[in-house]
Amino acid sequence: MSRNRPTLGLYIHIPFCSAICNYCNFNRGLFDADQKRRYVEALLREIEQAGVKVCTTPATADTIYFGGGTPSLLEPPEVARIIAACRDAFDVSSDAEVTLEANPESVDPGKLSALRDAGVNRLSFGVQSFRDAELRRLSRLHDANRARAALGEARGAGFDNVSLDLMMWLPSQRVDEWLESVDAAIASNPDHLSLYLLEVYPNAPLKDDMARAKWSQAPDDDAATMYVTAMERLEAAGFAQYEISNVAKPGRASRHNLKYWTDGEWLGFGCGAHGTVDGVRTKNVSGIDDYIERLAKGQPVASEIRRMDAAERLGDALFTGLRLTAGIDLDDVQRRYGVDVWERYRADLAPFVDAGLLRRDRSRLALTRPGMLLANEVMAVFV
Ligand code: SF4
Repeated sequence: MSRNRPTLGLYIHIPFCSAICNYCNFNRGLFDADQKRRYVEALLREIEQAGVKVCTTPATADTIYFGGGTPSLLEPPEVARIIAACRDAFDVSSDAEVTLEANPESVDPGKLSALRDAGVNRLSFGVQSFRDAELRRLSRLHDANRARAALGEARGAGFDNVSLDLMMWLPSQRVDEWLESVDAAIASNPDHLSLYLLEVYPNAPLKDDMARAKWSQAPDDDAATMYVTAMERLEAAGFAQYEISNVAKPGRASRHNLKYWTDGEWLGFGCGAHGTVDGVRTKNVSGIDDYIERLAKGQPVASEIRRMDAAERLGDALFTGLRLTAGIDLDDVQRRYGVDVWERYRADLAPFVDAGLLRRDRSRLALTRPGMLLANEVMAVFV
């Protein structure tokens, strides 16, 4: 199970939002300027302490990812201080990918330029839809024009690596309406796109909104058509799908997110953040104030530190690896885990191969596109 120490990714969680969207299930809270100021100080302390803990010589890192919440609610000097803290605590490569998730309404040209100067070199915009009625239904604060403008402003500020998120299967959304958003996304010329199916959680306010307004989600078959047709249009426009939900122009796959799907290692900073290093999984306390107070008192912020056993590590590597269009490198798994995956799981996997949901060629095992629609059922083999 040994291999050279992988280069780390550094995930920074920023849990503040200007308003809480009616479908949101993330770890976030309403923006409060004083709390944010104290949170940034706590983050800086956690990063500094981790640098000391990880190794006597600084561990190397090649990605920094500000996720949320809404990281674009940070002021650029705060972002600069956090990046500097990462560089002080870790040996961060000079060409590191530094991503910041941004909401279109929380940026302007000046802020984007300042974020670029602060060291951010990749932006990921939470656009979700290019149709105003859908954005209102999701209680988002921006409209389609603001989303388009934000992308243009990012280019103007010098960003050559810009991603956007879209959500499909929205309440009352028809296939043609979804494809309108896909076409608008293509027209706005991003380098990378993430497409997610809306999941309506049982306690989400959106569920009540849907009941009141009599909105429903399209039938499952339409959701499948939305996914497959979008992928085809994106491929025709020069994007390559590299993961179930992600497409990119050449060389623009998310280096940070690939760590999650290629059995990589990363550290998570901030409330609720989780990390995986050397087979040890950690998760921080989720409460914002709890996190701040613990750091102020010099107490540990991890609520969970768990060494995964060999079976769990293997299961994780297979489960996440199957998300990639390239699939799992079976020879590599054999080298690292000493397991012949096909031999071990043949009885469970063969029916999926026969049904055209899985492809096995030479030393690779990958989902086909129809298989991606039923990914959870296939992946359950490894859990
Ligand atoms: S902006 Fe994102 S994190 Fe914040 S409430 Fe909306 S969906 Fe949740």
